[in-house]
Amino acid sequence: MNNNGEQQTATAGSARIFDHIVSSLLPTRHGEFRIHVYQPVGETVEHVAIVKGDLKDQERVLVRVHSECLTGDVLGSMRCDCGEQLDAALAKISSAGQGVVVYLRGHEGRGIGLANKIRAYQLQDQGRDTVEANLDLGLPVDIRDYQVAAHILSDLGIKSICLMTNNPRKMMKLAEYGVNVIERVPVLTAHTPHNISYLRTKQEKLGHMLDFE
Ligand SMILES: [Zn+2]
Repeated sequence: MNNNGEQQTATAGSARIFDHIVSSLLPTRHGEFRIHVYQPVGETVEHVAIVKGDLKDQERVLVRVHSECLTGDVLGSMRCDCGEQLDAALAKISSAGQGVVVYLRGHEGRGIGLANKIRAYQLQDQGRDTVEANLDLGLPVDIRDYQVAAHILSDLGIKSICLMTNNPRKMMKLAEYGVNVIERVPVLTAHTPHNISYLRTKQEKLGHMLDFE
């Protein structure tokens, strides 16, 4: 990316991977950020980086790699904790004065898409948990990929990160793509009668590190 936020193409070897499309200031209720839009080559999906401060050559940058969740992030759904985690990450980055949320589109329902996520909710209404519901539908439990997130962090010039997540798999995947993950920063959100069984399933079946009884 150049200083004017104009479109540039990132490459790995000779192959183009994604384009940095554009950037702009973005005032939010958590303070002022800069928003960058990225698009993998040959795809229509647009990913976003919401940046606080100058991250070039910085170490131990606070990073949240957040999977899009329309129901949680936008509608305030209490079936999951996505919206709360996103808010907590933006607030923490804002008070630290530096950091980035990489917002990955196309990650609904851990990669199965919005309609399938709602189909899984139907099954959960009948007593299945979030993992069983995906399997009942013949769908994978988690097909999210983090390669584009690794490229975005590299494009921003970040040297090493402190990753805000409860998901050890996400740390491992980013490290596999060459991200220098120094530390995990827990993102603990309130549990409610609506999300407690979802959170317990994530803890027991998906290895998430959540601290509740
Ligand atoms: Zn969610």
